[in-house]
Amino acid sequence: MHDSDAIIALHGLRKTYRDFWRRPTTQAVRGIDLTVRRGEVLGLLGPNGSGKSTTIKLILGLLHPSAGSIRVLGARPRDTATKARIGYLPEVTCLHPFLTPRETLFYYAGLFGLGRGQARGRVDALIRMVGLEHAADRPVGEFSKGMGQRVGLAQALVNNPDLLILDEPTSGLDPVGCREVKDWVRLLAASGKTVLMTSHLLADVEDVCDRIAILCEGQVRAEGRVQELLQRPGAVRFTVEGLTDAQI
Ligand code: ADP
Repeated sequence: MHDSDAIIALHGLRKTYRDFWRRPTTQAVRGIDLTVRRGEVLGLLGPNGSGKSTTIKLILGLLHPSAGSIRVLGARPRDTATKARIGYLPEVTCLHPFLTPRETLFYYAGLFGLGRGQARGRVDALIRMVGLEHAADRPVGEFSKGMGQRVGLAQALVNNPDLLILDEPTSGLDPVGCREVKDWVRLLAASGKTVLMTSHLLADVEDVCDRIAILCEGQVRAEGRVQELLQRPGAVRFTVEGLTDAQI
């Protein structure tokens, strides 16, 4: 692999959270080496608390690493020109409840410096893409989780990013909503975008990701193509006790 193919390159990445007195509290990321290549969809999979969101916040430059190095689109994460090329869907979308999807997207388009005419075309196309034409002028505070997620995804695409970072994009969605998100991810990857997405459910990423990295207690425990990982004996094992037939 050429270095130019690496859209994200993490080397020896560590993050220890500290309390008010700078005493270490949690070692959330404990030495991650990971590369995301141009045009691929990489799934970061792991249970709650395994360090997925922390890794993403480090990549976005929202947190400062305790050790290690991060290159995103060939630059440091805090580089503003780099940030302009990234789209981010947070785990919890913080949308303004009184704004409509159209107003929300215009607002973000303005933050990215898009002119009025360019923004109008982009906003209309995104609203169509996420299937919100019928609700484009209703306040998002009235929306269901799935509808809010659609607005969040459109917002992450408003700057036409080269790299899309989606934190738990399918969590809380019904199977149809989940399928739609995965179809959009595949479409975006086919159009040349690189996607890093997290999930705590293998089923949510296995049919959409080119590769997955399994995170556990802040470390990458396995990495590769989904089929390879599933064929490796013992690489992924789920043990759940005490479930009723209905729960299974
Ligand atoms: P995940 O996204 O996989 O659920 P996180 O990155 O959110 O995992 O959390 C990893 C670990 O770091 C957890 O033990 C969590 O409690 C801890 N943690 C996350 N954010 C903070 C924070 N702001 N301050 C202290 N500890 C945190």
